[in-house]
Amino acid sequence: MQKGKLIVFSAPSGAGKTTLVKHALEKLDNLSFSVSCTTRNKREGEIDGKDYYFISPEEFKKRIDDEEFVEWEEVYHNNYYGTLKSEIERITKDGHSVIFDMDVEGALNIKNIYGDQCLTVFVQPPSLEILRDRLITRNTESEDKLKQRLDKADIEMAAASRFDVLLMNDDLAAAKDEALAIITKFVR
Ligand code: 5GP
Repeated sequence: MQKGKLIVFSAPSGAGKTTLVKHALEKLDNLSFSVSCTTRNKREGEIDGKDYYFISPEEFKKRIDDEEFVEWEEVYHNNYYGTLKSEIERITKDGHSVIFDMDVEGALNIKNIYGDQCLTVFVQPPSLEILRDRLITRNTESEDKLKQRLDKADIEMAAASRFDVLLMNDDLAAAKDEALAIITKFVR
């Protein structure tokens, strides 16, 4: 039986979930980030082992074969993302709760596995147009990748009702406060 609780933040790309997760990690004790593995390229400013474990597709496949993941997805074409069992064990063994930043499928998979020990939070952008503007301003993706992300956003928005909590991110300061309140209530 795991001791800590699991909180999964999910949202279409650009909805602001990474910002909200980072804020929660700064403000709350006994909460640690589950660092995922990914095969995508590192973005400027990202740190290996902190934001992600950046690994090759070959290593990712080996880890799948060795059953090291609690869940994994090909989130975008040829870009794999997965959560290591060892991350959850590392964090919960000290009684800490785990916070995840995951796509919708991954979040719902974790919920299926962990049930009431897990809270799924869907971060909702005010609209798809605003999401598009945010992604363009962020300027981290090529045009082709941007399109993939926007196409997937459409599908992900439709899954919002399958989450435990919806968190509207139209005002960042308010969304940050709400995220803290949601987590604090669940882990207490
Ligand atoms: P990004 O490339 O923008 O960092 O992440 C792309 C998507 O992959 C985001 O929705 C992010 O939450 C998701 N993601 C990150 N880590 C994992 C993971 O371990 N499992 C799954 N299923 N999705 C993940």
